[in-house]
Amino acid sequence: MKIKIAGLENGTHTYNFKSNVKKLELNKPFDGEVNTKVVLNKFEDQIIIDVTTKIKAYFVCDRCDKDYSSIVESSYKMVYLSMADDTGKDSPDITYVSPNTDKIDISSDVRDYAILAVPMKKLCRIDCKGLCYKCGKDLNEGDCDCEDEIIDERLKPLLNLKNKFKIN
Ligand SMILES: [Zn+2]
Ligand SMILES: [Zn+2]
Repeated sequence: MKIKIAGLENGTHTYNFKSNVKKLELNKPFDGEVNTKVVLNKFEDQIIIDVTTKIKAYFVCDRCDKDYSSIVESSYKMVYLSMADDTGKDSPDITYVSPNTDKIDISSDVRDYAILAVPMKKLCRIDCKGLCYKCGKDLNEGDCDCEDEIIDERLKPLLNLKNKFKIN
């Protein structure tokens, strides 16, 4: 994913890149096509890009253990500053490029931000009910019979008391 900046006119330019996880050296959970949209704003001595990437990814739900896929969307902004001398300058959002640079390669940034966008919590859907911890039934498909037993367990001491003191 390279953008030719030599001779680029000042103003807004838009690019759409179609790549794939192999070319971008992305591994699991990503698979398939990588779609990246770049909005580039070129000024006299700087270029600002807004990058949005969508990649399909395959997960196992933390709650119900089912396989599911979703689109992981990542975005970032980067400023490219044209500078002859880049010594001692370092910032995650600024890349210094020599005035002679004719292309910028966004591949490694796209890859890094995609990896950062992988959700910590994997849920097949936000309200996934998960599996019953007793019988293992997928509660998204309906309730199991365990719930009643749990209530019975909680009521047991009360029932015992009731019997003991003959409360009605
Ligand atoms: Zn789930
Ligand atoms: Zn159950």
